[in-house]
Amino acid sequence: MKLLIAEDDSTSCAMLAAIVSKWGYEPIAVEDGEAAWTILQADDPPRLLLLDWEMPVLDGLKLCQRIRQQETNDHPYIILLTARSDTTDIVSGLHAGSNDYIAKPFENTELQARLQVGQRMLKLQAELNQVRENLVYQANHDVLTGLMNRRAVLQALEKEICRTQRTQETLCVALCDIDYFKQVNDSHGHLVGDAVLEEVARRMSAVSRPYDHIGRYGGEEFLIVINTHSDQVLGTFERLRLAIADSQFVIDHLRLTVTMSFGISMLLPTADKRDAMSLIASADESLYKAKETGRNRVVCLEM
Ligand code: GH3
Ligand code: MG
Ligand code: MG
Ligand code: MG
Repeated sequence: MKLLIAEDDSTSCAMLAAIVSKWGYEPIAVEDGEAAWTILQADDPPRLLLLDWEMPVLDGLKLCQRIRQQETNDHPYIILLTARSDTTDIVSGLHAGSNDYIAKPFENTELQARLQVGQRMLKLQAELNQVRENLVYQANHDVLTGLMNRRAVLQALEKEICRTQRTQETLCVALCDIDYFKQVNDSHGHLVGDAVLEEVARRMSAVSRPYDHIGRYGGEEFLIVINTHSDQVLGTFERLRLAIADSQFVIDHLRLTVTMSFGISMLLPTADKRDAMSLIASADESLYKAKETGRNRVVCLEM
């Protein structure tokens, strides 16, 4: 594990680096706080920090404060090294954001033990961050298809509505529904139905741009939110429609023809003040029309 050592006394600095190397750390030694700060701004910075309090340019206490002002979930673990042993000094060191302190002179065994505590805390923090990331992912994604879930795609739509008002682009909302999907389940079983949903999601993702939003809105319904020029709307959704309909789905030994209907509404950057729900309602009307007029088609009643 990397260990940043900031200590202005070059003899102590070299000694510290030599000791911690023996304990298996990779020391990165600097002699003032500003140099330490520079290292912390680079890629993959050390997470375990041993900072001397008294240093030129930027002292350990100010460096601590500066580090703690940064917004991050990945806080470094800071041990302050100080000749001060007054309670008030210790308190101000901890207030500045250090996790621990060691009073000079110190026994090597104490330093080793305190570094081990730091390592344990960093490991715990990394585990917590991982759990949090997983929870955030789960809260926003559909388990079966890996697409955004209903909540996340609705949130994306709300954001895009606000953005459209600023950027003067056309916002396009599409409700897409697999045609005769019940028949797939009835004829081949629910697991094959699930595999079809997964493949639909894969194909739609493959032909969309990274900044398009595709979410699973309900059972076999998807909600797509994109920004585009109004003359490209139909072409864009034709591409999606063909991505599903043009080649058969191969699931186990089955070859299935799957099609999807698309209903579209558009928010033009004019006096159109419709909200998310009314845009979806308009898309739903278009979808109804697409189903009524034969399915496997793109309909936008607003064009
Ligand atoms: P239409 O062309 O009018 O849309 O016909 P449809 O059969 O697709 O429509 P309907 O609404 O009658 O059927 C939707 C089916 O989707 C019924 C439901 O069992 C199935 N479904 C919904 N969610 C899932 C899922 O997660 N997995 C599977 N396998 N089926 C699902
Ligand atoms: Mg010093
Ligand atoms: Mg449906
Ligand atoms: Mg359907």
